[in-house]
Amino acid sequence: KASVMDGDNVDLEEMDDVVEKSKAKSALEALLEERKKLPIYPYRDELLKAIDEHQVLVIVGETGSGKTTQIPQYLHEAGYTKRGLIACTQPRRVAAMSVAARVSHEMGVKLGHEVGYSIRFEDCTSEKTIVKYMTDGMLLREFLGEPDLASYSVVMVDEAHERTLSTDILFGLVKDISRFRPDLKLLISSATLDAEKFSDYFDSAPIFKIPGRRYPVEINFTKAPEADYLDAAIITALQIHATQPPGDILVFLTGQEEIETAEEILKHRTRGLGTKLAELMICPIYANLPSELQAKIFEPTPEGARKVVLATNIAETSLTIDGIKYVIDPGFCKMKSYNPRTGMESLLITPISKASAMQRAGRSGRTGPGKCYRLYTAYNFHNDLDDNTIPEIQRTNLANVVLMLKSLGIHDLMHFDFMDPPPAEALLKALELLFALGALNKLGELTKVGRQMTEFPLDPMLSKMIVASEKYKCSDEIISIAAMLSVGNSIFYRPKDKQVHADNARLNFHSGNVGDHVGLMKVYNSWKETNYSSQWCYENYIQIRSMKRARDIRDQLAGLLERVEIELASNSSDLDAIKKSITSGFFPQSARLQKNGSYRTVKHPQTVHIHPSSGLAHVLPRWVIYHELVLTTKEYVRQVTELNPDWLVELAPHYYQLKDVEDSVSKKMPCGEGRA
Ligand code: ADP
Ligand code: MG
Repeated sequence: KASVMDGDNVDLEEMDDVVEKSKAKSALEALLEERKKLPIYPYRDELLKAIDEHQVLVIVGETGSGKTTQIPQYLHEAGYTKRGLIACTQPRRVAAMSVAARVSHEMGVKLGHEVGYSIRFEDCTSEKTIVKYMTDGMLLREFLGEPDLASYSVVMVDEAHERTLSTDILFGLVKDISRFRPDLKLLISSATLDAEKFSDYFDSAPIFKIPGRRYPVEINFTKAPEADYLDAAIITALQIHATQPPGDILVFLTGQEEIETAEEILKHRTRGLGTKLAELMICPIYANLPSELQAKIFEPTPEGARKVVLATNIAETSLTIDGIKYVIDPGFCKMKSYNPRTGMESLLITPISKASAMQRAGRSGRTGPGKCYRLYTAYNFHNDLDDNTIPEIQRTNLANVVLMLKSLGIHDLMHFDFMDPPPAEALLKALELLFALGALNKLGELTKVGRQMTEFPLDPMLSKMIVASEKYKCSDEIISIAAMLSVGNSIFYRPKDKQVHADNARLNFHSGNVGDHVGLMKVYNSWKETNYSSQWCYENYIQIRSMKRARDIRDQLAGLLERVEIELASNSSDLDAIKKSITSGFFPQSARLQKNGSYRTVKHPQTVHIHPSSGLAHVLPRWVIYHELVLTTKEYVRQVTELNPDWLVELAPHYYQLKDVEDSVSKKMPCGEGRA
């Protein structure tokens, strides 16, 4: 009898299995049906034929037509993965992750197996991987280990129109290797129509156009400029919700902080609305959003509800969210800006270009007629906005890229095959900085320090800080600091109703005015001492997720230290050793206190202020070194540590002379001091 029972059980289990499998199968079939509805689908065979016939192909198709998710699958189906991996690059981490998740789903495989992604500090691929989504920066780093990309059969440089620095450098490198790797297929895909430029650059490569389907979009401008675009965006979203027919809303904001603020205000204002209005689902999306929350924006909106997606530029072309009918465009984005004269880099909230504004508007007309609300005037649009965004290569610090090209053996940077060359001044500045950091010698050749620095996927100043820690025997502390800095400004959290508590918790890590870098180290070490407790994080207003990420990054940095043969040494009681390591990397970013409480940067004088979130904001040491400069309402420096000015001359004798660091507080100030 027992055996019959057993038999029954087995049968039941088998039944379950069959049911599960058929469910999965029908889900896959449903996905396949969806795939067939994409604009690219009718061109599948024609596209494969073109790829077969040409080594380099420029592919143009509107956002959402299926380029990113479908082309790698078509290539796989056509057998290209038998010869090697398919790489598809994305300018943004979130896009790489999200698209890989979608494609693994469509192929019915586990993410990280056949389909994976690779972004900085996170490798979600395996031996099995055949389709690899990756940031353009990661593919660039692959050249260091495999200069001919031998393991790849196809490289698809996607979102080429974004013209990020890494994409532009990739152009030059893949063009070069395609000459001696005739078996390598090169696809350059773009959402905009200025494909001629790509074609010209790649020796007149043919252009394959995927006709889009587009519905009319009604454009509304404001009558007068908005004083507060965030507030205007929120009000507009609520008005749409209250007065317009069903359809989801997409709001373009500039960054995480803004998105979080908008989310909070929207939640607050909709709370009081009761049941008169449909439910409003608020879905944020930005680079640092944890991946489990990223998936939420793609979930279908429940019947009767309305979704409002609060997104950064990522939703402009990288990600397509189905169901959007209304777009709110305040007309701004956060953009890196770089002054090659001073070498100073900062993040600025900048007006977008006309091309961007068109893309944004287009997001509303994908599945039906849409509406776009521009929170600026028609006059602004026509007269103030640039036609196109300037390629990043012309407005950024090039030190990182120059270091990488040098380690690839490319010495003659002036004659590198740039699509649009960077300003010569910016190249010189990068060489100068790398020389001052000790990464290059007088002949512009890579030094041992430079080679070690290249191993770290970090900005040269951070890499130098780590390499320098060998001398001061505090590499253990320094990699914790580097990891915490790499996580960004999401370690501490500060709920609106508990700001005082949160600020006090934060100040605990700053006793003795140790500075923000050592403060971060203390946070990390304290967490470690609690055996990585989440309760501890909760009690100290620290985001556990950010801490876990820091731990992860730290582990990887520890591995890289081993690779460059630097011993992991701890010296946490010697704060000067730690600060000297920091100064060895960040000496170009030093500033001196002024009489009025502001600071003046030493080398290229500019007035800055310590960010209010800094542990030193009220201490105001005479000399400081800072991690980054941000421009919001004022020029702020963030992550600040006190500095002994003698160290500048000691650690960077090629960069500073004694006269730069003489304490002139007692001297008469030259006129104009204190003004930028
Ligand atoms: P393109 O690269 O041409 O802009 P995509 O291949 O990114 O187009 O998008 C094709 C379709 O796949 C779109 O309808 C989009 O909504 C859908 N899609 C892409 N990523 C996801 C995702 N993570 N979840 C659900 N749908 C997605
Ligand atoms: Mg795409």
